[in-house]
Amino acid sequence: MSQILRPERLRTFVDRIASLLDEAVPETRLLEAGSAHLRELIAHDDWLPDAWARPDPERYQQYLLHADSRQRFSVVSFVWGPGQATPVHDHTVWGLIGVLRGAEIAQGYRLNEQGTPLAVGPAKRLETGAVDAVSPRIGDIHRVSNAFHDRVSISIHVYGANIGAVSRSVYPAEGGRKTFISGYSNEVLPNIWNVSKEGTFS
Ligand code: FE
Repeated sequence: MSQILRPERLRTFVDRIASLLDEAVPETRLLEAGSAHLRELIAHDDWLPDAWARPDPERYQQYLLHADSRQRFSVVSFVWGPGQATPVHDHTVWGLIGVLRGAEIAQGYRLNEQGTPLAVGPAKRLETGAVDAVSPRIGDIHRVSNAFHDRVSISIHVYGANIGAVSRSVYPAEGGRKTFISGYSNEVLPNIWNVSKEGTFS
C-alpha cells in the first residue's frame, strides 16, 4: 500500500469543504470558494499516492479518496489512461473538477425537447491547475476526455454527495439514456488521519 505524503493537503481541503457545507452557503458561493480550495489542493502534485493514481488499460479509474461521514460530499481521483474518455453523463449534484496532472478536454451538453444531448459552446481544454464546475443549476451534462493520447492525466473531483452511489444518466453515442451508478475503483482509502505521526502539521 503506498504511503500518503503530505496528508495535510487533502485533510485541509476536506475540512474546508465541510466548513462551507456547515455554513450552508448558497451554491454560487460554495462553487466559488470550493474552487479556490481545490486550486490550492492541486497546486502541488506531491500528495496523491501511486495506488490512487494508477491507470487501467481498459477504462478510466475513479478512486474514492475521502467520503464525508454524512455523505454530504466525496473526493475522488479520476485517472485517465492515454486517449480515454467518459460517455456523455450527468451528476445530479454540484461538482468541481481540478486537473492535477496532464490535461483534459471537457464538452458541455444540454438536452433538447427529445432528451437528446446537444453540445453547448466549444469544448474547454483544462490544463494542469485548472478547475471546472458542474451542477444542475449551471449545466450538469458533459463528456470529459484525456487531452493526451500518449500519457496519463489525473483530476481531483469533489461532489455534493457520495458520488459513487448516486443514480445518474449516461447518454450513449448510439442514442437514448441509461441509468448508471458508478461505484469506485478502489476498496481501500488513503489514511489522512494519522495526525500523531506528523509533528507540527495540522
Ligand atoms: Fe463528470
